[in-house]
Amino acid sequence: MRVYLGLGSNLETPIDQLRAARIAISNVNGISEIAFSSLYRSPSMGSKDQPDYINAVMAIETDLSPLELLAAMQCVENEQGRIRTEHWGARTLDIDILLFGNEVLNLPNLIVPHYGMAERAFVLYPLAEIAPGLDIPSHGKLVELVARCPLDGLERLTDAA
Ligand code: AMP
Repeated sequence: MRVYLGLGSNLETPIDQLRAARIAISNVNGISEIAFSSLYRSPSMGSKDQPDYINAVMAIETDLSPLELLAAMQCVENEQGRIRTEHWGARTLDIDILLFGNEVLNLPNLIVPHYGMAERAFVLYPLAEIAPGLDIPSHGKLVELVARCPLDGLERLTDAA
């Protein structure tokens, strides 16, 4: 199954967090990396005194089930010492399952396509970089979502992940 993951960090040298996450995700049994976007900087959506986020999107191929994948991603988050004090609070690493093939999942602990992804610049722009032809279930063509989405301060970095 082709899956797209959204990665974000705004603590503890975020670029290193995303690099480490990329390696940890690729090393999970049953996952192979297909593509990794550029790194992007975006202002925090939560309280404005938080540091900026570094975001990226990763495409993987997996034979894990959706819930197995969620558990594996939560392990990677926990192993990188995620700090969670508040909803949308600062965190060392956040991994969201954006898309799981064309599936629409409304489980108590897993909603796919990921909530809010169709309006978030820091998801849509990196996703369009690695998979411009995507159709997002329940939302439509990615290129059209991008065209309607203001950058909101999003900036593509020259650093590679
Ligand atoms: P967050 O604070 O945004 O990282 O939310 C984490 C919680 O979101 C976890 O308890 C997950 O069970 C839940 N969740 C629901 N849908 C998703 C998804 N598509 N990807 C990752 N976590 C999800």
